[in-house]
Amino acid sequence: MEFNKWGNIVVDDRCKTSLDGVYAGGDIVLGAATVILAMGQGRIAGAAINDHLAGKK
Ligand SMILES: Cc1cc2nc3c(=O)[nH]c(=O)nc-3n(C[C@H](O)[C@H](O)[C@H](O)COP(=O)(O)OP(=O)(O)OC[C@H]3O[C@@H](n4cnc5c(N)ncnc54)[C@H](O)[C@@H]3O)c2cc1C
Repeated sequence: MEFNKWGNIVVDDRCKTSLDGVYAGGDIVLGAATVILAMGQGRIAGAAINDHLAGKK
């Protein structure tokens, strides 16, 4: 899995990591941030995971 120089997981705009089928969000991606941002990424990742499991791009 790809990490940046601060040790955070690198994700794309749908919270997908460099590993197929693995998603991440929140502080481990953003660094120390806020609950609002973490929850937002949770929603994005959830939708992306749903698409992945449904065989959509
Ligand atoms: C003291 C303090 C005060 C804060 N106050 C505010 C505030 O007022 N408002 C605000 O918006 N934000 C605040 N924040 C920031 C906010 O808490 C975080 O941005 C938010 O909790 C990030 O959510 P998360 O789900 O990404 O990570 P976390 O909430 O840290 O959740 C990660 C979870 O993963 C678990 N975990 C870790 N390693 C493993 C493992 N190997 N296996 C299984 N589980 C594991 C942890 O136990 C934890 O439950 C504060 C943070 C701190 C430290």
